[in-house]
Amino acid sequence: MMNADLRRERAAATFQTELLTHILDGGAERTRRRKEIEALVLNDPDFQHEDLNFLSRSQRYEQAIRKSALMVMKLREYGIADPEEIYWFKSFVHRGRPEPLDLHLGMFLPTLLTQATPEQQDRFFMPAWNLEIIGTYAQTEMGHGTHLRGLETTATYDPATQEFILNSPTVTSIKWWPGGLGKTSNHAIVLAQLYTQGQCKGLHAFIVPIRQLGTHEPLPAGLKAFTSWTANAGIEECRMACGGHGYSRCSGIPDIYVTFTPSCTYEGENTVMMLQTARFLVKSYTQVSSGQRVTGMVSYLNDLSRQRIQPQHVAARTVTVRINDPVHESFRKHLKPMQAKL
Ligand SMILES: Cc1cc2nc3c(=O)[nH]c(=O)nc-3n(C[C@H](O)[C@H](O)[C@H](O)COP(=O)(O)OP(=O)(O)OC[C@H]3O[C@@H](n4cnc5c(N)ncnc54)[C@H](O)[C@@H]3O)c2cc1C
Repeated sequence: MMNADLRRERAAATFQTELLTHILDGGAERTRRRKEIEALVLNDPDFQHEDLNFLSRSQRYEQAIRKSALMVMKLREYGIADPEEIYWFKSFVHRGRPEPLDLHLGMFLPTLLTQATPEQQDRFFMPAWNLEIIGTYAQTEMGHGTHLRGLETTATYDPATQEFILNSPTVTSIKWWPGGLGKTSNHAIVLAQLYTQGQCKGLHAFIVPIRQLGTHEPLPAGLKAFTSWTANAGIEECRMACGGHGYSRCSGIPDIYVTFTPSCTYEGENTVMMLQTARFLVKSYTQVSSGQRVTGMVSYLNDLSRQRIQPQHVAARTVTVRINDPVHESFRKHLKPMQAKL
């Protein structure tokens, strides 16, 4: 129901509002078609407006994903394929709120259409159109938004394997903000500086699988454990840096801590995920050591002979300390006199 004051003001307009509507829509026929599409949504019981105010974040996400899935089925049922008509339908289904497929429809598909080669389109566009592939757009980094030339993520071409190795090596190069990355997408278009034959060729877009298509499990599995532990340690560091205030609820940090720490347990308990990842890596390493080649995300191990692989800490904190390591020499110095006394 339109507000009575609004209706009165509109009726008092000094021009024909209908004509302005036609101009904005691009003609009377487009207005008719828009209203027809809007009516499909408004009269559909599946899309009735519900009160989201008392739902939790997870419940809102579930509602939105249910609506998006229904929306795609109905778009197909009605044969709506024109991008503008899809936009009208979508706007009415989600009533102007962001929805899980926003980035897929608004950035992933258009980027494929405008920047992919015909071969790349053959491989990715139809699966993406059919929502087998759901994509997001990962351009912004923690340290670089407007300043695009400063993006630090690299994609280095390896002629031996004909693969691109993507790397975000620093905190400032962490991809930040991509809508739908956390739960919905299984692929991302990642903007990175292309390096080949030792030269930087500037920013290019790369399609990177991030979840398994069949199971929607994140790739690689250990990454979730690593990132959630790192974030946990970061929150704790912030708390400690604030001294006593960090402990106080006024700082907001305890709430962040309590909300975030369960992520180390749900959607795959971190220790178990790290053990699974380690088992998989050791198995792949053994295969490579015995002369077999491995594929996919562990194909970098094929490079063992050239020793380009460097050990990296994967846990946020070192869990064991080898007291015989040279770095702990000073500790030993203090230990020896103590041992002598005992
Ligand atoms: C809701 C939301 C969703 C997003 N979704 C995505 C996504 O899906 N994928 C993705 O890649 N990114 C996404 N982004 C990131 C978005 O593209 C960046 O936030 C944007 O590019 C701005 O970068 P920044 O946040 O680093 O701000 P900055 O560029 O650091 O800007 C900070 C301030 O500095 C000023 N400033 C910067 N440069 C100049 C200049 N040259 N001259 C004068 N002033 C300047 C700006 O005006 C601003 O006030 C999203 C952002 C939001 C808020």
